[in-house]
Amino acid sequence: MSHTQGSTDAPQHAKMNQFAVAGNCLQIGGQSLPDLARAVGKTPFYAYDRQVMNDRVKTLRDALPPGVHLHYAVKANPMPEVVNHLAAMTDGLDVASANELRLALATGIAPGSISFAGPGKSAEDLDAAVASGVIINMESAGEMQRIAALAESTGIRPRVAIRVNPDFELKSAGMKMGSGPKPFGVDAEQVPAMLEAMSSLPLEFMGFHIFSGSQNLRPQAIIESQTKTFELAFRLSQSAPSPVRWLNIGGGLGVPYFPGEQHLDLSPIASNLAGLARKAAQQLPGVEIVLELGRYLTAEAGIYVCEVVDKKVSRGETFLVTNGGLHHHLAASGNFGQVIRKNYPLCLGNRVSGDTLELVNVVGPLCTPLDILGSRVSLPVAEVGDLVVVFQSGAYGLTASPVNFLGHPHPGEILV
Ligand SMILES: *Cc1c(COP(=O)(O)O)cnc(C)c1O
Repeated sequence: MSHTQGSTDAPQHAKMNQFAVAGNCLQIGGQSLPDLARAVGKTPFYAYDRQVMNDRVKTLRDALPPGVHLHYAVKANPMPEVVNHLAAMTDGLDVASANELRLALATGIAPGSISFAGPGKSAEDLDAAVASGVIINMESAGEMQRIAALAESTGIRPRVAIRVNPDFELKSAGMKMGSGPKPFGVDAEQVPAMLEAMSSLPLEFMGFHIFSGSQNLRPQAIIESQTKTFELAFRLSQSAPSPVRWLNIGGGLGVPYFPGEQHLDLSPIASNLAGLARKAAQQLPGVEIVLELGRYLTAEAGIYVCEVVDKKVSRGETFLVTNGGLHHHLAASGNFGQVIRKNYPLCLGNRVSGDTLELVNVVGPLCTPLDILGSRVSLPVAEVGDLVVVFQSGAYGLTASPVNFLGHPHPGEILV
């Protein structure tokens, strides 16, 4: 396939071979992309392929040591059909708002398999979490007191875990969430005092949630972080009011988005984790280990599709103007946490290869120079009506985008 090939010595995108190509068209959920676009009834749209998610879950299950539970972090893609599908495939869900909690409960999974994290949980969030019996990942001592007050007034004994801000950092994570001063969790050094205070409160202590970062593509860094996570949990367990029954080690597994990035090699991570799980079985007998993944489960299963509405040349550069852009897919435009803008992998979904390639800029309809989907991308010669596909779009896509900006129509969304 010839998506986004620049000059030969420039770094290339990893191969996007999760989708077949037939008749020069990308195949999604067994359908040719132009047919799928007709079925959706409009462009732009997001499409998520359940078979790609199934394959990903199977790969993880085959690699991970038995006993490590796999959770899905709903915020990566909260489309109800996707949440339902992954609830059935995984061992639990992680939510970060009362709305996500309702989505998770509506799947019918046991409340004990749902955990609720997030700094600044509102009174309504905590009410809903306590009433439903999910595990609450407490982000501060103040939040613990608010949950204890709810326990007194409702007579319910809430299940709680402490979210720990670790004293180490996940190296080269795309988004760092641990160590240093952080709004997330309780500093590791403050946890023993919080555990001490907990022993006189009507709370059911479950364990710890230690999440140190996201979008990591370096196995060695992930191994180091997971090893330190278990060491920290073993250390903190000595101050716990009751045995640690639940240890959520976060996620952090990355997917390749940009030129030069490679698919993660799971095998060294899995074998290190097997050793850690054996240690945990000795040091924390009966503990349930949870790996919570968002993007690793959904990102590669999703594409964003928009249509070329105009093609023009400006001072020597060719522009494909599409009906999709930043308002639907902030991350692909480079405005969701990127310092230097890089291209997501793109292709023309109805014209995957071509004898002649041309260098184009793929832009959206918004009146802002930020509305870029591809900068100087080499694609087969495109025509108005062609379907531009942005790969790796199944996580942090639609719900992480400012859909009302400029008032264009919202995109479609389909699970196939
Ligand atoms: C966002 C988040 C995740 C998922 O991160 P991914 O990079 O999508 O895997 C997991 N746990 C918590 C607490 C999160 O906030």
